[in-house]
Amino acid sequence: MDELLAIGEFSARSGLSAKVLRSYAAVGLLVPAAVDPWSGYRYYAPGQLAEARLILLLRQAEVPLRDIAAFLQDPGPDQLRRWGQDLDLEVASRRRALDEARALLGQLTTSVDNPAGQNGGKPMKVTPGSAVDRGKVRPTNQDALLVSPPLFAVADGLGEAPRGEVASRLALDTLNARFTTPPSAEALADAAREAARAIWQRADAEPSLEGMGTTLTAVAVLDGAEQTRLAVVNVGDSRAYLFREGQLSQLTRDHSVIQGLIDAGEVPPEQWRTHPKRALLTRALGMAPVVEPDISLPALAGSARVLLCTDGLTAQVDGTQLAAVLSAVTDPEQAAAELVQLAGRHGGDDNTAVIVIDITPT
Ligand code: MG
Repeated sequence: MDELLAIGEFSARSGLSAKVLRSYAAVGLLVPAAVDPWSGYRYYAPGQLAEARLILLLRQAEVPLRDIAAFLQDPGPDQLRRWGQDLDLEVASRRRALDEARALLGQLTTSVDNPAGQNGGKPMKVTPGSAVDRGKVRPTNQDALLVSPPLFAVADGLGEAPRGEVASRLALDTLNARFTTPPSAEALADAAREAARAIWQRADAEPSLEGMGTTLTAVAVLDGAEQTRLAVVNVGDSRAYLFREGQLSQLTRDHSVIQGLIDAGEVPPEQWRTHPKRALLTRALGMAPVVEPDISLPALAGSARVLLCTDGLTAQVDGTQLAAVLSAVTDPEQAAAELVQLAGRHGGDDNTAVIVIDITPT
């Protein structure tokens, strides 16, 4: 065994720890050349140092371990070239997406820089109404709402009192303070990121607030010369809906365990309200120092009604009932009040916050 290297020396010379070597061996890479049956020591051949260097380089290129194992069965330059081509394609596709995003952002900025009315476009009239209710079961209200045209938001605080209440309020105050003009999707997303950071820092500074969190669903009406758009950001399971011509469409996607199970086909969509995991969130402000919101930019044509609400409403009232109220009650303030009352009549198990925003051409 003179020419073999003991694992300690091989580890030092290859730069791979014993733990990494073990995980490589599990997929058939750098399998020890010998093992001492008495001591259990593993030994490597000096020639395996070159193989270790090759594996390290392929790992730096982010080639999966199993693909490396297959490659080493029959190593050749063709496969390396193919991986290179795949990488070029991926980089080109990501670059194209970034270019398209830049073009889209340019359009939005242009729209906002040339406000409607000055360019022959029609400004939109924005009329909001809102309501919030503690419900019949919860001892405190931890839902909060923000009505500060063109910015609107709801937040559902998480954590026992007073933590949830502090979190939802802090999220909306930060969002409002950090939302810069001219209004844009990027400004809204940045303000949401700031809100997440603010909650994390406050919980860090005050031990009694540790573990607080909140959902956040916000929209900004971007009134452009060519077209009115809605910037929508979302973290958690509060929701934004668009109601137009009698049709209700959900603008946000819940960040919840149950949504994941539905997407995976493991739970039928109609069971989400009664599922024991319904309330578990996969993303919330306060879960991490940096939280990325989902962002979308639907276009608005003609008149539309936007609904923002916490799960106190959606867990109690289905889409058909929501649409019926939005269609029957013309005044947004009354519609919001009616929706909150409807949640109460269906049990009122949770706090409920609702904002109804009418957006109409002038
Ligand atoms: Mg709730």
